[in-house]
Amino acid sequence: MPTPLDDAHSATGVAMKRFPLRKAAVLFIAVVCLCLCGLLYLQLEQSRRHDLTAAQVVSSNLTRAMAQQAEDTFMKADLVLTNLVDWIQADGFGGPQKPRLQKTFARQVQALSQLHGIFLFDQKGQWVVTSFKDMPHDTGVSDREYFKFHQQNASSVAHIGPAIRSRKNGEWIIPVSKRVNDKSGNFQGVLLAGIKMSYFDQFFKSFNIDDNGSMFLASIDGTLLARRPFVEAQIGTSLAKGEIFQKLLPNAPAGNAMFSSVVDGIVRLYGYRQLDAYPLVVSAASSKDAILKDWYATALQSSIIVALVVLGVGLFGWVFIHQVRVGERVEAHLREAKDALKLIATHDSLTGLANRWLFERALDIEFGRGARQSSSLSLIMLDIDYFKRYNDTYGHVAGDHCLAEVARAVKGCCHRKADLAVRYGGEEFAVLLPDTDLHGALVIAEQIRRSVMDKNITHSGSPTGYVTVSLGCYSFMPTGRDSMEVFLQRADAALYQAKHSGRNRSAVLSMEGGVEALMRSDR
Ligand code: GH3
Ligand code: MG
Ligand code: MG
Repeated sequence: MPTPLDDAHSATGVAMKRFPLRKAAVLFIAVVCLCLCGLLYLQLEQSRRHDLTAAQVVSSNLTRAMAQQAEDTFMKADLVLTNLVDWIQADGFGGPQKPRLQKTFARQVQALSQLHGIFLFDQKGQWVVTSFKDMPHDTGVSDREYFKFHQQNASSVAHIGPAIRSRKNGEWIIPVSKRVNDKSGNFQGVLLAGIKMSYFDQFFKSFNIDDNGSMFLASIDGTLLARRPFVEAQIGTSLAKGEIFQKLLPNAPAGNAMFSSVVDGIVRLYGYRQLDAYPLVVSAASSKDAILKDWYATALQSSIIVALVVLGVGLFGWVFIHQVRVGERVEAHLREAKDALKLIATHDSLTGLANRWLFERALDIEFGRGARQSSSLSLIMLDIDYFKRYNDTYGHVAGDHCLAEVARAVKGCCHRKADLAVRYGGEEFAVLLPDTDLHGALVIAEQIRRSVMDKNITHSGSPTGYVTVSLGCYSFMPTGRDSMEVFLQRADAALYQAKHSGRNRSAVLSMEGGVEALMRSDR
């Protein structure tokens, strides 16, 4: 049953509401682990982006160097051809000119290491002069792409054709050619400089790229001219369907992009650049795995470290939470024990009603509350009639049962939370009724009396034949200077009157006009 003491302490109970340590610990550990993982992710992502950006810079520089070298190579050949074509067009290439032309061709080839040879063909594609001493004895070059090109195009600009095998010695060459005209601009033949593919191979090999990397030189239409690694079958094939020629070059003459190769499925960072002066494109690619090799190692190390830390934090958290749970369990047991002790200390074990100690605390509190709120405080004192005879007739054990039954009846009539039923003495009970006037107290007293009678506990020693109780009620308005003894004495006096006037009844003590009057309820 809630008591006035519980009311008094309830506010403190709310204030001391426990901090949810276990939930907070779980949350804290989760946040710490998430933060660690988040930081790791951010740091790795940043370093990955840094590595890729650095690789892009390297790739740009590499393609710039390749473009420069290719441009120089072709420009030198172009200049040589331009000079020679001017000379040939001015002086012709008849019989007397041939020895001089041969010597000049040979000198130029000697001077430029990239040149395989210089060849002059007449308008039918037959060999006229070459930088080599001996002339090839074959059908000529009228079937070659460059020859047909100049035959059909009046342009005097140098033409770079697809890579071919030299008919002189079988070496792979990239042909750079110019049209030779007569004085009126008619087609007279073709002057060709063959650039050694091995010259580009050497240049490409001088760069340090990974095993899965690649470099190439191609004409603007996508025809492959030179490549590292060199795969003979690929020379002359078309790259026009690839990402660079399809998507990148139409948008920008130079750039970088990461994509997976259609040939081998390897993801590479491709850098490409179109030459300014010639319709050529160079490209260098490094495999993504090679670029991120160091990053992968760092990512693995960092991830292992973070995983260990997360594991440690999780383990520590688990131990901590386990300890908190053990602490909470111990605390719950202690609280239960404390509650049990409190119950033992404040309640009667036979009837379960409040004991004298709790009654006195409650009186103290209700005196104060009544004075503050100007509300009446009532007390009913109750005593079982002829109980000694009951014990004598039925024994003490039956007497105890009877006491417990009467206590149940008393408790059953305490309707309000603040009403307090007390075992006052052996077979005497008290009911404290805060905020209740004398009339209200008498109503409750009668309820109790009838409730006990209704239990029909046989009592042969009582004139009624069953157990009855006598009750005395007293009510007053606390002033703040009241005596507990007087309060009890007056309720007791009313009880005495109830006994004296025949038992099994309720009596009230009222203080009207300074005179105490006693009233008795009807039976
Ligand atoms: P009255 O009508 O005047 O109250 O008569 P009474 O016999 O009830 O009065 P009295 O005070 O003489 O007797 C009280 C008896 O209550 C005495 C005692 O044996 C009995 N008693 C007191 N405490 C207990 C208890 O805890 N258990 C039992 N079984 N009996 C108790
Ligand atoms: Mg008694
Ligand atoms: Mg009695």
